[in-house]
Amino acid sequence: MIGCDCPVCHSSDPRDQRLRSSIYIQTPECCFVVDTGTDFRTQALRENMRVVDAVIFTHSHTDHVMGFDDLRRFAYERGSMPVYASPETMQDLERVFEFAFKGLNPFPGYLKPDPHVIEQSFSLGSTLITPLPVPHGNTVVNGYLFERNRRKLVAYLSDCSGVPDSIARQILDVEVLIIDALRHKPHPTHLSVDQALEVAHRVRSGKTFFTHICHELPQSAEAQLPQDAFIAYDGLRLEF
Ligand SMILES: [Zn+2]
Ligand SMILES: [Zn+2]
Ligand SMILES: [Zn+2]
Repeated sequence: MIGCDCPVCHSSDPRDQRLRSSIYIQTPECCFVVDTGTDFRTQALRENMRVVDAVIFTHSHTDHVMGFDDLRRFAYERGSMPVYASPETMQDLERVFEFAFKGLNPFPGYLKPDPHVIEQSFSLGSTLITPLPVPHGNTVVNGYLFERNRRKLVAYLSDCSGVPDSIARQILDVEVLIIDALRHKPHPTHLSVDQALEVAHRVRSGKTFFTHICHELPQSAEAQLPQDAFIAYDGLRLEF
């Protein structure tokens, strides 16, 4: 948090220094990123990211889209960048990044998005990706379920204020649930720690990782969580 003197902002645990939420997925066939927030460039440099074959967006809040133009580095050799988003999110992207979507600039270094509006499940390589519409305050945003070889590997619900039973059933028994848990105190547009744990219990996730955590929740709070629940941190890697 800018200009904050709280214990988390001044913590000596490097895991308490958090950038915006996003995930990068590597598969044998292709690599893709979910959201390009304001910190995307910093994250790509930190992780020495070399390939992005596609980008998937959860929603168009600034903390999830403002790094969009830095995809140009990855689109350059491909010629364009496949962009997957809901109709509403795509509309916002086209408005905010009009210079890219209009394709007016012929310079090859400019980002040329190749929009794919998501209406149902789609595949990137052998990964089946299913949109999970969830409430996020007054809006509805997409989480995603990632499946390979009929295994429900990961459900990613970075921003949500609730998880309807229909969605919980779709991700039942998922191996890893990555879910919004902003802080202990309830919030109008994000889940609290207790609410996130309730969802984890309902979907019977093998392991649960909290994301989109604010500075009111220190990494050390993980010690009070159930055995299979963790606080994710920047640079965390999961292998399947
Ligand atoms: Zn703080
Ligand atoms: Zn949001
Ligand atoms: Zn957010």
